Amino acid sequence: MPYSIAIDGPAGAGKSTIAKAVARELGYVYIDTGAMYRTVGYYCICNGIPINDETSVVEHTKDIDISIAYDDSGVQQVFLNGENVSSKIRTQEVGEAASKVSQYQPVRDKLVSLQQKLASKASVVMDGRDIGSKVLPDADTKIYLTASVEERARRRARELEQRGESCDIREVEREIAERDHRDMNRANSPLVQVPDAVLVDSSDLTIDETIDAILDIAMKR
Ligand code: C5P
Repeated sequence: MPYSIAIDGPAGAGKSTIAKAVARELGYVYIDTGAMYRTVGYYCICNGIPINDETSVVEHTKDIDISIAYDDSGVQQVFLNGENVSSKIRTQEVGEAASKVSQYQPVRDKLVSLQQKLASKASVVMDGRDIGSKVLPDADTKIYLTASVEERARRRARELEQRGESCDIREVEREIAERDHRDMNRANSPLVQVPDAVLVDSSDLTIDETIDAILDIAMKR
């Protein structure tokens, strides 16, 4: 029976860095579900599908094929109709589009079923917004990983700087708060801390301390 660790939390809490490291440490497969919603958002942007028009988004994304595979170093790659789009879905614009299309239930149904299929085949660390609540309600370990808006904005700004992109920290903070609000207040599968999830606040923790905290929790289950 495969094991599963569900890590949910808001944008910029460091879920993917942490989840990836925890998976490596335990020899589990890391599944980044945000990448799947980003792929749907990316598809809509590329094909001129109006993101705010649910009927149109649902109709157009019904038949697209999304799959994942792992490269030689074990890094998840996402394929959209056979094309590897992993490096194209990391922009702020695609993140915003993902947050909008993820409100539509038929889009969620399609991706949740892919996520559940993946988790039935191997032990996984899966991160997202609804993993503990909807995708893997019976997960062996559930974590709610968060950090203050200010700290998440600082981390995001640092990341952008390292890529040579300039940004206004107040603007980054505003975007993060807006995305939190949308993800936490949508009708379908809002981001929530389920009662059986352990809260990990990484505001004052280093990456290594956060990884250790989660490994500790997983070991005690
Ligand atoms: O985690 P990431 O920022 O890549 O996710 C992009 C967007 O996809 C999130 O803001 C959220 O709206 C959506 N998402 C979701 N459910 C998930 C993962 C991501 O609704 N399990």
